[in-house]
Amino acid sequence: MTPGVRLDADLEVAVSTLRPALVRARGRLRRDLPWIGVGDPWAVYVAEVMLQQTSTARVLEPWRRFLDLFPTPAACAGAGLDEVLRAWRGLGYPRRAKALHDAARLMVERHEGRVPSSVPDLLALPGVGSYTAHAVASFAFGERVAVLDTNVGRVLARALANRALTPREARDLAAALLPRRGAAAFNQSLLDLGAQFCTATPRCGTCPVARCCRWRRDGGEDPAPRSAAVSRPQGSFAGSDRQIRGRLLRLLEEAARTRGDLHRELGDVDAARLERLLEGLVGEGLVSVLGSRLVLGTARRPSR
Ligand code: SF4
Repeated sequence: MTPGVRLDADLEVAVSTLRPALVRARGRLRRDLPWIGVGDPWAVYVAEVMLQQTSTARVLEPWRRFLDLFPTPAACAGAGLDEVLRAWRGLGYPRRAKALHDAARLMVERHEGRVPSSVPDLLALPGVGSYTAHAVASFAFGERVAVLDTNVGRVLARALANRALTPREARDLAAALLPRRGAAAFNQSLLDLGAQFCTATPRCGTCPVARCCRWRRDGGEDPAPRSAAVSRPQGSFAGSDRQIRGRLLRLLEEAARTRGDLHRELGDVDAARLERLLEGLVGEGLVSVLGSRLVLGTARRPSR
């Protein structure tokens, strides 16, 4: 039993059954991810920020490119936001790139150019939520803390509870499941299980822990979609504000442009909508106004 965490008897049994099964299945579950075991907290930090809203497969190449350009927090902090946004290409949700840039500057100012190791210090950085703080503390520093993302949320709801969990229950279950030793490797196995087998459409027939899964044993409606920490499906990307924001940033990556240029080049987009999206980009600090032109990043550092 985990101190401070009270589980009912059925959950206690489920936790004590799944924990060793996951440890045994580690070899079968393990994905070959380049940021695992590199001993570089910045590399882990960058990976976890990129993974917040982007799939692992789409992160691999931009992660390498980003670290080649900015191998340390100081290198990132010393670059212009326009350079960081260019390096972010292909990942989407560019607010994360600005947050990463801001976080690198704080690491230089407050943490001697290092990624902080404690969950509270990590949570104080821009763009870092509970999952990212716990993942970096665990994978970069070996802290014994549980990670809880949508992959883990599905496993907890299906394999342990066979019901939708509240946020508190999901947190408690994730903490209770953690072994005394080897927490980072265990967290990785849990993520690997959720990413490869316990997916939105689960692959129970080949799942290495199927024998101790309550949903598999007892059946019923899939509890995962209504459970805490499990993300809801996103709307279509085509034609979305996200897609148009991406098109605007791509154009500004090439060169500064006037509003008139952008309206002409995105002539298929309603003018009022385009203005609203441009204002949003300016308000978030991703685009700046320099005279009659709009530039990528901050106006004080012109694009190369
Ligand atoms: S048996 Fe199916 S539902 Fe249960 S943990 Fe494995 S993949 Fe998930």
